[in-house]
Amino acid sequence: MKIAIDGPGGAGKSTVAKLLAKRLGMTYIDTGAMYRAVALAVARRGIGAGDAEAVIAELDSIHIDISHESDTGEQIVRLGGEDVSAQIRTQAISIGASDVSKIREVRLRLVELQREIARGRDVIMDGRDIGTVVFPDADKKYFLTASPGVRARRRYLELRSKGDFAAYETCLSDLLARDSNDSGRAFAPLVAADDAVFVWTDRMTAREAVDAMYMDITDKGSEPIRSNGAAL
Ligand code: C5P
Repeated sequence: MKIAIDGPGGAGKSTVAKLLAKRLGMTYIDTGAMYRAVALAVARRGIGAGDAEAVIAELDSIHIDISHESDTGEQIVRLGGEDVSAQIRTQAISIGASDVSKIREVRLRLVELQREIARGRDVIMDGRDIGTVVFPDADKKYFLTASPGVRARRRYLELRSKGDFAAYETCLSDLLARDSNDSGRAFAPLVAADDAVFVWTDRMTAREAVDAMYMDITDKGSEPIRSNGAAL
């Protein structure tokens, strides 16, 4: 079984996907972490994330490895064997990831890796193009979203909890820049699949979103998740 969860940054995708995977006994795969790992790798080599030619030249020597903690199911991202799960969570790397994600060759490489990791497993994958490109035949597709103000506040609080005291205004402007980058890119832009169910998380806790999606997936019937016309 493949479940695709797409949507913009700060919509709650990773929190929801992680909880849902635990409840369903599936493997959670965060694809944003892979774009972040590429951004970190090129930054360490002094290459600008927007310098497509230079980034492409490095691709063959960037080795990303994804595994999961056996007890918590938490995803671990390794770059050339080094655990970089924490280093890829900074604001600078968020922006770098958005820049490298515009490069076609980077996307092709990472989509291949994502399909390989998911082969033969039940997975919940979150990203921007999972329901449209990576798994167009996914069993279930969700598009999680929320207003920019709410998403920026979540990012602000998340960063604070990790000791990064970025201003709320910076979080909002970075998020809007990433939205525009992700939606505006020519190749595999952020867009909801035609058959995705919209989940608006402005006034939903992660637990409520997970409950509604769980009921939908297990066909137990649920309160409608606000969707694009097709109420659950
Ligand atoms: O989800 P996260 O914020 O960690 O993703 C970082 C960046 O990676 C996004 O802003 C987006 O540009 C890119 N990304 C992507 N396709 C994916 C996952 C992430 O383009 N499937």
